[in-house]
Amino acid sequence: VEDALRQSQKMEAVGQLTGGIAHDFNNMLATVIGPLDLLAMRMGDSDPRAKRYIDMAIDGATRAAQLTQRLLAFSRQQPLQPVPLDVNHLVAGMSDLLVHSLGSSIRLETVLAAQVWCTFADANQLENVILNLAVNARDALPGGGRLVVETANCRIASAADAMRADVPTGEYVLITVADNGGGMPPEVIAKAFDPFFTTKKVGQGTGLGLSQVYGFVRQSAGHVKIHSSLGKGTTVALYLPRREGEIDAGPSTAPADSRPLS
Ligand code: ADP
Repeated sequence: VEDALRQSQKMEAVGQLTGGIAHDFNNMLATVIGPLDLLAMRMGDSDPRAKRYIDMAIDGATRAAQLTQRLLAFSRQQPLQPVPLDVNHLVAGMSDLLVHSLGSSIRLETVLAAQVWCTFADANQLENVILNLAVNARDALPGGGRLVVETANCRIASAADAMRADVPTGEYVLITVADNGGGMPPEVIAKAFDPFFTTKKVGQGTGLGLSQVYGFVRQSAGHVKIHSSLGKGTTVALYLPRREGEIDAGPSTAPADSRPLS
C-alpha cells in the first residue's frame, strides 16, 4: 500500500510539473517551427544544402513538439470513462492494429478465455495500455519473436493465492501481454513504473509507457504485475476487477482463430 501511495504521489508531482512546462514549451516550439516552414517555402530550390539544414531543424523541432504532446496527455490525467467491458471483444478488435505495430518479424497470438467475466474500465485507455505494452515488446524483440495476448478469469481466493500473485483476494479479469524478448534485470523491474525511467536511447523512449499503464490500472481499481527473466522474456499482467451483475460475454465474441482457455 505504501508503495502504491509513493508511486501515485510521484506521478502526480511529475504530472503537474511537466504539464506546466510542456504547455509553455509547446507554444515556444510553434514559434520555431512556423518561421522555419516559411523560410523553407521562400527558399524553394535555390539552395538545396541550406534547405536540407532547415529540414533537419524542422524535423527536430517537430519531434520535440510530439514529445511535449505526449507529456501534456500524460499530465492532463484525463478522467476515465469506465463502461462495462468485454475484454475479449476489445482484444480481438485490436488485432489489426497490433499486427501493424509489431511488424512482420513478430508473431501475434491471442488466447481468449472461453467465457470471460465482465469488467468495468475505460475502453480507449485500455486499448492504449495494451498498445503501449505491445510497443515495449516490439522494442524488446529487435530480431523478431512472439507476442501473446491472453485473457482469463482469475479468482484469487485465499491468502496463499494472494501472497503468490502479490494481488489482493478477489475476482479479476486478467489480461496478460507476454513477449519472448530479452527480459529485464531486477533493477530495471524495480524502476519500470517510474515516470521518465527508460533504458532506451534519447528520442526512442520517454519512460512514460509503463507509468501510464500503472496509472490506468490503479484508477480502474486493478493491479499490474511484471514477471520478467533475462533471456526468456517479459509478461505484464493486468488484473481488472470483475464487474458483478453483468451478463458475461459468451463464446460468440471470440474470433475463430483463438483457442479457448481451459
Ligand atoms: P519506454 O518504453 O519509453 O522506455 P516504459 O515506461 O514503457 O518507457 O518502459 C520503461 C523501461 O522498462 C524500458 O525502457 C525498458 O527498459 C523496460 N521494459 C519495458 N517493457 C519491456 C519489455 N517488454 N521487455 C524488456 N524491457 C522492457
